Amino acid sequence: MVAGPVVGVLALQGAFTTHQQRLMALGVHAPLVKTPQQLAGIDALVLPGGESTTMSMLLDTSGLRDPIGERLADGMGVFGTCAGMILCATEVLDGRPDQRGFSLIDMTVRRNGYGRQLDSFETDIAVDGLTNGFHAVFIRAPYVERVGPDVEVLAVHNDIPVLARSGRCTVASFHPELTDDTRLHEAFITTL
Ligand code: GLN
Repeated sequence: MVAGPVVGVLALQGAFTTHQQRLMALGVHAPLVKTPQQLAGIDALVLPGGESTTMSMLLDTSGLRDPIGERLADGMGVFGTCAGMILCATEVLDGRPDQRGFSLIDMTVRRNGYGRQLDSFETDIAVDGLTNGFHAVFIRAPYVERVGPDVEVLAVHNDIPVLARSGRCTVASFHPELTDDTRLHEAFITTL
């Protein structure tokens, strides 16, 4: 039996397996979540990178949107990365008109906002609370245009927030699961 919180990984689309691997490397029980029934046993949820418009659609067809929304309203912790950040933000620019998220963290993000030239890039960033830099992989990342006063910015790249937290909601515009560095997953777990 693994002790500590059970961290589900939303597995409708996108980079969910790598998140699961990082959590398992930390000894965390990390079941994939594809159905409302699978929400029952989890204490926190990772919303992975992928395509936020597709995930929004699949949240509806899977019947997961409302049950996840209820758990989040009850204070379930969530770690949203890239597309997952878009699903957590209160305001999305350049989204599809019918895409909807969970409106959990007071920030404005622009989908694919780094533009064509910088579609994907990698860079080392300094993160509050970590001694050494973190290698951050950005893939068609959301660009954070505004954060609310209650949002704690934990890392910036070129003065733009790329990692932030508000209560039990942590969001990253990059993909922390794509390197074998587990420190950000570990930091997320300490917020639960
Ligand atoms: N551009 C994607 C979206 O709009 C996010 C990209 C990613 O998650 N790597 O959802």
